[in-house]
Amino acid sequence: MRFPDKIALVTGASRGIGRDIALALAREGADVAVTATTPDGAADTAAAIRALGRRALALGCRVEHAAEVNAAFAATAAALGPVDVLINNAGISSPVPLLEMSEENWDQHMDVNAKSVFLCSQAAVRQMRDAGRGGSIVNIGSIVGQNAIPQTLGYCASKAAVDHMTRVLAIELARHRIRVNCIAPGYIRTELIDKLARDGKLTLEALERRTPQRRLGSGEDVARAVLYVASDDAGFMTGQVVTVDGGWTAYGYL
Ligand code: NDP
Repeated sequence: MRFPDKIALVTGASRGIGRDIALALAREGADVAVTATTPDGAADTAAAIRALGRRALALGCRVEHAAEVNAAFAATAAALGPVDVLINNAGISSPVPLLEMSEENWDQHMDVNAKSVFLCSQAAVRQMRDAGRGGSIVNIGSIVGQNAIPQTLGYCASKAAVDHMTRVLAIELARHRIRVNCIAPGYIRTELIDKLARDGKLTLEALERRTPQRRLGSGEDVARAVLYVASDDAGFMTGQVVTVDGGWTAYGYL
């Protein structure tokens, strides 16, 4: 058990990567608050955590709204205790060519993917500082934070922001014994990717062919890396962006 009786909060945990991270934390002994845009959306993951014998709380929290974020953290502290581990996972991707891109598209990516890291980290750090036992924050970035792909200006810019926010927060919060790292996944088979495939924005077979491991990742692939950087095993590691992509970004041929 790497997180015995720790309190974790995972944003965007109704499905996909966030759900797998929340369940992995619970298997390692954590009690977990799980959020989605509505409490009903988070309820199934919370039930699965309780079935593992841990405490869970399902919360509705749109991560780009400060009032909802602060309410979710207050509810977590009241029900479970102050947060030790925060996973900033909630995110959206709506690719569109530059010449068709709206101001709203830009704002949504920056708000849900990047501003949320500021809001949720601020709320978590207040609790971590007051509890005085340190803590760990893991941001879920993306390989597109460093590797550009076309027609995704808002998504790529927001994920690059997450990479650098990781570094700023890490050096600022080190004196509180709070570590901040980022996991940057490659292509992971979730509803986000399946919807882009259904909409004709990408082709799953082409992604598999381009990946040296010849497969898309799973939520568990990401969760295992998150557990490592969030745990005391990575106690001297902070401010890092760690890529989990089956070799996608290392590959430079064809
Ligand atoms: P999914 O679309 O499967 O799940 C997204 C989650 O985020 C859901 O729980 C959703 O809740 C929640 N969410 C969406 N918008 C908001 C919001 N405004 N406020 C709060 N919660 C919200 O995505 P993935 O699991 O694939 O992605 C998770 C993270 O991983 C994202 O940050 C994504 O950018 C990143 N990532 C994913 C990759 C992939 O290939 N899948 C690759 C690289 C990075 P609800 O059910 O209520 O909508």
